[in-house]
Amino acid sequence: MRLYENEAKTVFEREGISVPRALGVFERAADIQGNIGPDAPVMLKALVLIGGRGKAGGVRRAAGRAEAVSLATEMLGCEIRGYPVERLLIEEAVEAAGGAAYVGVTMNPADFNVTVIVSPAGGVDIEQVARETPEKILKVELPGNDEVLPEAEAVRLAAFLAAGLPGGAAQVDALKAVISNVYAVFQKYDCKVAEINPLLLTAAGPVAADAKIVLDDNGLYRQEGLFHLLGLATARHDVSEPTRNEVRARAAGFRYVDLLAEDHKKDSEKLYVGLVPGGAGYGIFSIDEVANIGDRFFGGRVIPVNFMDSGGGPTVAQVAEMFDLLFDDEVVDLVITSRFGGISSCDVFIRGLVGCLRERRKTGRRVVPVVGRMVGTDLPSARDFMERAKRETPGELADMLITIGNQKIMAEVIREGIRFAFDRKGWA
Ligand code: GDP
Ligand code: MN
Repeated sequence: MRLYENEAKTVFEREGISVPRALGVFERAADIQGNIGPDAPVMLKALVLIGGRGKAGGVRRAAGRAEAVSLATEMLGCEIRGYPVERLLIEEAVEAAGGAAYVGVTMNPADFNVTVIVSPAGGVDIEQVARETPEKILKVELPGNDEVLPEAEAVRLAAFLAAGLPGGAAQVDALKAVISNVYAVFQKYDCKVAEINPLLLTAAGPVAADAKIVLDDNGLYRQEGLFHLLGLATARHDVSEPTRNEVRARAAGFRYVDLLAEDHKKDSEKLYVGLVPGGAGYGIFSIDEVANIGDRFFGGRVIPVNFMDSGGGPTVAQVAEMFDLLFDDEVVDLVITSRFGGISSCDVFIRGLVGCLRERRKTGRRVVPVVGRMVGTDLPSARDFMERAKRETPGELADMLITIGNQKIMAEVIREGIRFAFDRKGWA
């Protein structure tokens, strides 16, 4: 569950981190008048559960009351990256004389280590800093999942930050305190992410100009105190940032989750496998099985890229879209599919797949091999259709290898599919 910025700031402030003085949260521009001095510089911030608001016009600075009212009028009712702006947080603007830093704590999904990340290049997207100037990031992993950030690590992180910030030398102790406190927030409130970006160095010390907290939904049951502090009666429905593929799948009416980050850099030594499974259970099984078979027989060089669930009875067009989505994703090298036709029909499925492949070949769009198995409802007509299709357009369907019936278990189909794709790439 993601907290709004004002909520996250309430938490950080409670744990000893300075935040800008808030003038209030407003739903109507007219309500602002009495709360801002005529010449007091303020920041207007859209309370939406998404990052990157600054670039999208969701964070604006006003020189005083009149400008704040006019900016608020403009912002309220707008959308920021698809999220309607219904409330604005207004704060005193902070002057960052000594630079802007990034401080974040999260968990490394690969090894579950708590990870502290700091950078003196604050105020920018941290992924961008990682790509363009990785030397400006210090990352410390804590395999012991310590309750309190160890002193030696806190000192090291603070020294790194201080060295990169114009006003850092004078505030190294304060920076150390902020880092330790963000870490404490992460642990105490069962966070997935606790992050300040930017942490501004002012004459009065570091101030968290922005705040992001994502709570681990599995820990919410023991966060009663936090809910009380924030005046929340129940958990909010989690609205995390969907990827392009996830948005596309939602529009087409099927469930889809990307397993890799959207900007994942493809490793040319590895095979990336997209999955079109038959149902949610098979979807999860396929992820595990592809990874396991990759580990056992292919030197760990195989990466499943997605979860998918068509739901009961997809249409031909929906099936085609499920494959189109994966073919359009440049990361995908191979698609493994398993149709276990219970509610849904193998016949509809194969028509969707064949139609998709033919259309893409005709229009010169990207295609990768599709390997899989079909069992269940409407199998005879599905077999007839597929065999006829392969006779009619063998070239267009050369890379479609679908086993019909139960003569092979899915693990064999997956293993053979990966072997086929490895051979294609000329890999051992
Ligand atoms: P985000 O884009 O959603 O992460 O929103 P932020 O709250 O980080 O605001 C975007 C940018 O506005 C920040 O990176 C800062 O550069 C700037 N900003 C926000 N609040 C202040 C402030 O109080 N003072 C100054 N000088 N800049 C601010
Ligand atoms: Mn920010």
